[in-house]
Parts: sequence; C-alpha cells; structure tokens
Amino acid sequence: MRVTTRSTHLRRYLQAAREQGQTIGFVPTMGALHRGHISLIELSGRSCDLTISSLFVNPTQFNNPDDLKKYPRTTEKDLDMLEEAGCDIVFLPSVEEIYPAEFKAEHYELGSLDHILEGAFRPGHFQGVCMVVDRLLSLTEPDVLFLGKKDYQQCMVISKMIELKNHKTRVIICPTIREDDGLAMSSRNMRLSVQEREKSAAIFRTLHFLKDHLQPGDLREIKKAAVQMLEKAGFRVEYVEIADAGDLSGLDAWDGNRKTVGLVAAYMGDVRLIDNLDLF
Ligand code: AMP
Repeated sequence: MRVTTRSTHLRRYLQAAREQGQTIGFVPTMGALHRGHISLIELSGRSCDLTISSLFVNPTQFNNPDDLKKYPRTTEKDLDMLEEAGCDIVFLPSVEEIYPAEFKAEHYELGSLDHILEGAFRPGHFQGVCMVVDRLLSLTEPDVLFLGKKDYQQCMVISKMIELKNHKTRVIICPTIREDDGLAMSSRNMRLSVQEREKSAAIFRTLHFLKDHLQPGDLREIKKAAVQMLEKAGFRVEYVEIADAGDLSGLDAWDGNRKTVGLVAAYMGDVRLIDNLDLF
C-alpha cells in the first residue's frame, strides 16, 4: 500500500495506473475508520482494479468548531485497517495541500438540499462537503466513487455536485453497516460513554417504529411518537422526518405509494448522531 501526503505524488501513481488501463475506485473518509468505511474499501476492491482512499478531516464542513476539535483521529490504526482491507493508495493530505493559498471557494447550487434536514441544522456543511469532494475528485479523477448510505442526504448532495461540475465519476451508494444492536457505525460512536453507547441503539428502534407504523394518511402522530421515544432514551432530538426518498422533501401525509425514508439527527450527550432507514 502506498501512502502519500502530496497531490503531485498521487497524480503520478494514478497516471501510471490509468496508462495501464486500470479502473480506479475512490473512498473519501475523515479517518477514525470502522467496519462501515472498510465495507466501502472492500466493495471498491471487488469492482475496480485500483482502490484509493483519503484520510482528511475537512475543516470547511464543520459548522461547529468544537466538533472539529473533538473529531477522533486514529491515523496509525486507520492505515493498518486500510492495508488489511486491500487498499492500494492512501492520500493523507494536510489542509494546505487541499486548500492551497490560490484555492478559490465556489458556491454550489444545491437547491433545497442545502437548506433542509442536515442543511438546516448545520449551515454551510454541504458547501464544505462539496468543496472537499470536488477538490478530491479533481485530483483523483476516479471511475467510481463509493459513498455510504448512512449519510443519505450527503449522497444526494455529492451526486448533484458531480452533475453540476461534470465530473466523469459514477457513484455507488453502499449499505449502512451496523453494530449488533442496530446502531449505525460512525467515527463519532467512539466518543460515547458505555451508558450512552447502550442508549444509542434507540435510534435504530425508532426508525423501525416508523417503518412498522407507516400507513397512508397523516404522519404527524407517528413522527411525534418517534421524537418521544428518542427523548425517553436520553436523546436531544434535532429532527425526525419522514421524507420522499427521491428529493428528501418532508411529508406530513403519505399516499401509500411514494418511496419514503425516515431520517433522524439527535444528540446523545455532546455527540451528534444521524441515521436513516428506507420505510417503503
Ligand atoms: P466519514 O469518514 O464519516 O466522512 O465517512 C466516509 C464514508 O464512509 C462516507 O461515504 C460515509 O457515508 C461512509 N460511512 C460512514 N459510516 C458508514 C456506515 N456505518 N456504513 C457504511 N458507510 C459508512
């Protein structure tokens, strides 16, 4: 496995691979890896000739400076896990490497996606996500980009950015990997105390509650009950939403036909967790 902090080196490796006709799969991450990330690396390994991953905690997507400061960093362990999973190249850039002095930020026209759900509670977050992924795609020009469904809205945002910027990259959305009790794996889970970790399985139970109780007609009562379930488990809830799976617009009533997804964001202590589940 090759590890580099420099985009010039990265470009050179990738150029050589491309000249040999190899297909390139890319898995961007912020490190503090877990089995969710590794499932993406493995999928890329099965579908592409060469797999590259990046470890970069992107400051421009953190609207909360304390969250950025507390974001877990476990680089040595990450590199071991990537090697074991068969990753070929790891890009470990500094902030200056990604955003050099001459770098110009741009605005991405994401429409309502920028302002609803995660966008509403984390202003500027998706502009920062687009900024870093756009930059990483320009450097790596992968054939395929592997993203986790755990970040449902992010998958939609990145797909939209790829369309806006005409990147020649195909997106593959990979299933959410969960702990045995249903908690979605997340780098942030390692900041939970033992008690908080136990209580956090309530998110998955709540999403299943929504799935089990989804019926044509008014949805407001089941959304309210879902909020109460989370609060009872000790969460401070930011949102519980049942949304159209295609555009994420929130639904207060369901026609019995539309594909819908349940989405949750909630704090356990000072750790913010998100999750989602296809409901229909
Ligand atoms: P992050 O390091 O949180 O930026 O995540 C990097 C990539 O891994 C993103 O595409 C995430 O959606 C994906 N990912 C994070 N957690 C999981 C999970 N539990 N299952 C599958 N993919 C995940």
